[in-house]
Amino acid sequence: RFIALEGGEGAGKSTQARLLAEALRARGLEVVTTREPGGTAGAEAIRALLLDGVEGDGGESWNPRAEALLFAAARSDHVHRLIRPALARGAWVICDRYLDSSRAYQGGGGGLSDADIATLHAIGSEGLLPDLTVLVEVTPTVAMQRLALRDTQGSDRIGGRDAAYHERVASAFASFATTEPARFARIDGDGSPLDTHALVLSALAPLLP
Ligand code: C5P
Repeated sequence: RFIALEGGEGAGKSTQARLLAEALRARGLEVVTTREPGGTAGAEAIRALLLDGVEGDGGESWNPRAEALLFAAARSDHVHRLIRPALARGAWVICDRYLDSSRAYQGGGGGLSDADIATLHAIGSEGLLPDLTVLVEVTPTVAMQRLALRDTQGSDRIGGRDAAYHERVASAFASFATTEPARFARIDGDGSPLDTHALVLSALAPLLP
């Protein structure tokens, strides 16, 4: 089974990925936890290009199309080297961000069309989709508080994005979940990590052996 966790920054996806993996392992399942951009050596190298930029570029960030291609290349390596082999041997794969982040950030935020994002995904990853996408939603003030705390421990985010960008991302996620409800479980992430975890587990119940 392939589960993706999605949401804006500060939603608590990474914590939920870890708690979910522990719960599934406790049931005796093999679980691979991974993340985008990243998950393999090659994709982590691309992550560094995306997050840290490149020396000599004058501090400019990638243009939205180059950014989308880098994300697609990172995913291609990740899918072919890690995700597909894990699924083929029967493991559960829990991925912190996947296609809907591309649609929300490079699409909603960066302005690429959904059709272009789908084409990149088809070429790079042969269209592999999760069995379920868990969208963790938090109110903006909660996300800001969590990010302020995290940033004191060192930021791990793509910079140069304004509040309007993040608003477009949030409304893109919400609209995917509304228009494609069968693919999504929408989870309220404002509560404690364990409260949110309980919601995630009940959303997954129909998939559990
Ligand atoms: O989820 P995480 O914080 O590890 O993501 C790292 C950075 O990459 C964040 O700034 C996130 O917004 C960005 N990102 C993106 N487009 C994606 C996936 C992640 O802009 N498709």
